[in-house]
Amino acid sequence: MRWTRSYIPTLRETPTEAELVSHRLLLRGGYIRKLAAGVYLYLPLMQRVIEKFANIVREEMNAAGALEITMSVLCPAEIWQESGRYHTVGKEQMRMKDRHNHEMVMCGTHEETVTTLIKGEIKSYRQLPLNLYQIQVKFRDEIRPRFGLMRGREFLMKDAYTFDATDESFDKSYQNMVDTYFRIFKRAGLDVVKVESDTGAMGGRAAHEFMLLVDTNGGEEVVLFCDKCDYAANVEQAEYKATDIKIDSDLKAMEEVDTPGAATIEEVTAFLKVDATRLVKTLMYMADDKPAAALVRGDRDVNEVKLKNALGAVELEMATSDQVEQHTGAPVGFAGPVGLGKDVTILVDPLVAKLKNAVVGANKFEKHILNVNIDRDFKASKIVGLTLAREGDQCPHCEGHLVAKQGIEVGNTFMLGTKYSESLGAKFLDAEGKEHPIIMGSYGVGVTRTPQAALEKYFDDKGIIWPKNIAPYLVELVPLKVDIAKHMEVAEKIYHDLMEAGIDVLLDDRDERPGVKFNDADLIGLPVRITIGEKSLKEGKVELKARCESENSLVAIDDVVEAVKETLKRLN
Ligand code: ATP
Ligand code: MG
Repeated sequence: MRWTRSYIPTLRETPTEAELVSHRLLLRGGYIRKLAAGVYLYLPLMQRVIEKFANIVREEMNAAGALEITMSVLCPAEIWQESGRYHTVGKEQMRMKDRHNHEMVMCGTHEETVTTLIKGEIKSYRQLPLNLYQIQVKFRDEIRPRFGLMRGREFLMKDAYTFDATDESFDKSYQNMVDTYFRIFKRAGLDVVKVESDTGAMGGRAAHEFMLLVDTNGGEEVVLFCDKCDYAANVEQAEYKATDIKIDSDLKAMEEVDTPGAATIEEVTAFLKVDATRLVKTLMYMADDKPAAALVRGDRDVNEVKLKNALGAVELEMATSDQVEQHTGAPVGFAGPVGLGKDVTILVDPLVAKLKNAVVGANKFEKHILNVNIDRDFKASKIVGLTLAREGDQCPHCEGHLVAKQGIEVGNTFMLGTKYSESLGAKFLDAEGKEHPIIMGSYGVGVTRTPQAALEKYFDDKGIIWPKNIAPYLVELVPLKVDIAKHMEVAEKIYHDLMEAGIDVLLDDRDERPGVKFNDADLIGLPVRITIGEKSLKEGKVELKARCESENSLVAIDDVVEAVKETLKRLN
């Protein structure tokens, strides 16, 4: 491709709207443009990156025995009602009425569609196992679309669905996808880790996420690893062993005390001279518009995913200060479980349930209550794990401790069990002629998120450094003086030699100053740059430089193809 025939609108200025380095680089490099919140247009360079990554995904999925299909983005609402998810996905689902007043939804995932596709067609265990996948547009009206392609409202996903007759067969299908995922990400130049995750709105018995760990602020997820065993989990899912519980023996009488000027945990512990572990944090939420109080120990934070699951809520939001006042009778900072209205669901973490003579908010301005005890002074609607695990906690499986790292979720695998096959009626007959629901799994890869995620790892202060297998072109060819015939002759020769050798090349044939060309080459980040300049040409040579290295080397014009191949071999 010639730069002058392409469409690569690079930007000098750093766009202010972008918080992440990967997002800034894609905008500046002329890869993407925003049309609306979470809705992006992929320009020619991005289109090539996405195609390269999608092809890796496709080749590995095909090699794993999965079959590619395409399912529609539009879907009748009925099958989402049948599966029960119509109500649980909440506002994330885009919905509309067609001209016949028939309700349609835009799919953010395709379990309902694929189950509807195979039900009735798969009749016997002999037709199983089966693995169907697609690379397709998804719509999700994300509550906080942000970070460019990382969290879009319209994006591309590879989604696969497995169908098995027995648990043993399912375990093989699941492991096959896990192995395939490691191969996919490796080929894209990415080392990922597999961690335990929440099953969320998907249902099913277990799930894993594939995380790219990053040192930038691009990691939306926190992963906790054990420093001794191989336990690793998304913080939302992570368990820990509670080891530091101190329990008083006798229950003392409740006592309301003034806490002037003290509302936060720090202020209250300082004022009352008690340890934060003796305090109860009462946080008010609205779960599907109903008030709920979550009680965790003063030194800990609430795990909102566990809270949402425990409440069985579709939408969970922190209560606003008005709502806190309405349900507790006091401004924010003084909520407590004693005397809360009957309409408030009170969920209590086991660490709080074990506390004796605890300190809680009094539901009155600048007042707290000492010596509060569960059952005697307030009733829990439910005692359930609500505490967010954190670095330093003990591993749930061994004596080791948890270490935190930031990561980006690039793929995941879910054991769905028979949730969809039962609700939508996808059954098969076994060898004895007995009917069973099909055992399912679902497997996603972010096809637009992953290439952007790669840029949270591969960049420097000048721009992008693409891993070679997902780079839009492998080589950028830069003749410094396009008005000198000899330079362009050499450029054209190398351009054609490379293309003949099957190496994608971008020829910067613009009549621009060398500084502009070099800056753009560093910005768009192709793995190898070849510069054609006066000095080296005198010796019949051109300059070769890998984007990720600082050294140049001089290469004879006829040896360029070989030298490029050798260089690419050693690059990620
Ligand atoms: P997240 O926790 O990040 O919201 P998810 O659990 O909703 O992800 P899935 O529904 O399983 O993710 O989607 C499969 C893959 O699709 C994810 O691993 C991710 O790579 C990608 N993905 C999910 N949501 C988005 C989005 N809004 N924009 C871009 N890619 C996404
Ligand atoms: Mg999501």
